[in-house]
Amino acid sequence: MINTVFDILTIRKDFPILNRKVNGEALVYLDNAATSQTPKMVIDAIVDYYSRYNSNIHRGVHSLSQEATEMYEEARLKIQKHFNASKSHEIIFTPGTTYGINLVANGFSALLNKGDEIIVSALEHHSNIVPWQMLCERTGAVLKVIPMDLDGKLVMDEYHNLLNPKTKLVFCNHVSNALGTINPIKEIITAAHKVGAAVLIDGAQAAPHIKADVQQLDADFYVVSGHKMCGPTGVGILYGKEEWLNKLPPYQGGGEMIAEVTFEKTTYADLPHKFEAGTPNISGGIAFGAALDYMNTIGFDAIAQYEDELLKYATDQLLTIEGLKIYGTSSEKTAVVSFNIEGIHPYDIGSILDKLGIAVRTGHHCAQPIMDFYKIPGTVRASFSFYNTKEEIDVLVAGVKRAKAMLT
Ligand SMILES: *Cc1c(COP(=O)(O)O)cnc(C)c1O
Repeated sequence: MINTVFDILTIRKDFPILNRKVNGEALVYLDNAATSQTPKMVIDAIVDYYSRYNSNIHRGVHSLSQEATEMYEEARLKIQKHFNASKSHEIIFTPGTTYGINLVANGFSALLNKGDEIIVSALEHHSNIVPWQMLCERTGAVLKVIPMDLDGKLVMDEYHNLLNPKTKLVFCNHVSNALGTINPIKEIITAAHKVGAAVLIDGAQAAPHIKADVQQLDADFYVVSGHKMCGPTGVGILYGKEEWLNKLPPYQGGGEMIAEVTFEKTTYADLPHKFEAGTPNISGGIAFGAALDYMNTIGFDAIAQYEDELLKYATDQLLTIEGLKIYGTSSEKTAVVSFNIEGIHPYDIGSILDKLGIAVRTGHHCAQPIMDFYKIPGTVRASFSFYNTKEEIDVLVAGVKRAKAMLT
């Protein structure tokens, strides 16, 4: 029996958008890996900010500014607690995962020499490949890739072979957005540290499902986006160990990140402000904190258990369709099903599903190297969240069957 873990109907009431119709049909939102939907209490946090205490932070002596600062810093503390960072100034607010990765890549420009090596996994999002290529061009460092196997798992023996004293950085996502594979990041981090390399984990896809403990993982950097975990777009965080954040130069110059400015020299503010130049997304940061409150109230164990049930049900039901192939078959995966039907372009399936009110993603999912590996142009990707239901999966399966009938 599904829906045993929590009261799904009550949860669905928290998400106003789930009531809407698309093309005359009830919305079935299965594109959660691209962005998650927003519960009312998070929307309310944004409305509350603009209705009651909209003001710039850290600068004003007036009451509104103090209230806004307090709420923003309280959100930072919630995020610190959630990821179990040892210090609140190790949490840097960013516009999102992409920005966090670029911040670190830019910072390492100053720390790398020609011939140093950077390792990335074959399961990366484009946002996790391009910055490293740019970094290699700037510094003369060399990019190495951990290969993947047909199940969509990293070939860990190859990883261990790649590591050597020239390895300075390792970058890997915690969960692949294209296939849902959960990568063995603890093993990746431990091995990298043995050769003295730093590790940045892209947690964008993991954070909505798995509560990462950055101290237990011993991650040097961990990045996430608020909008993938019930928060608003345009806000995320970079967690960095204090010693690393002190070593990296600032990314952007501007207000908030300076201690003292003269035309001869500027000294930088302490962490976290050194990396938070300019007016941040204040309401976004506060709403991100509210999103974590919301998800923690439901509980990440309950979320993971329920989503696992959805994944199993969706996998079993989809595989009853003849000619349907699922990509990403690791036993360790989140609720993502990437698939194709023989002889049909994924885009055509996605278009027909949209007419039926079903939102899925089609294409390369910003992970073209993975598609090249399987020699396919892309996939149809259905990604589930804790507010999805088994009934919605039935609608998806019926829709895919209909699309197949229309297209063959
Ligand atoms: C979504 C995603 C990103 C990019 O996140 P943005 O919010 O667009 O910056 C990076 N990596 C993974 C694994 C993702 O799923």
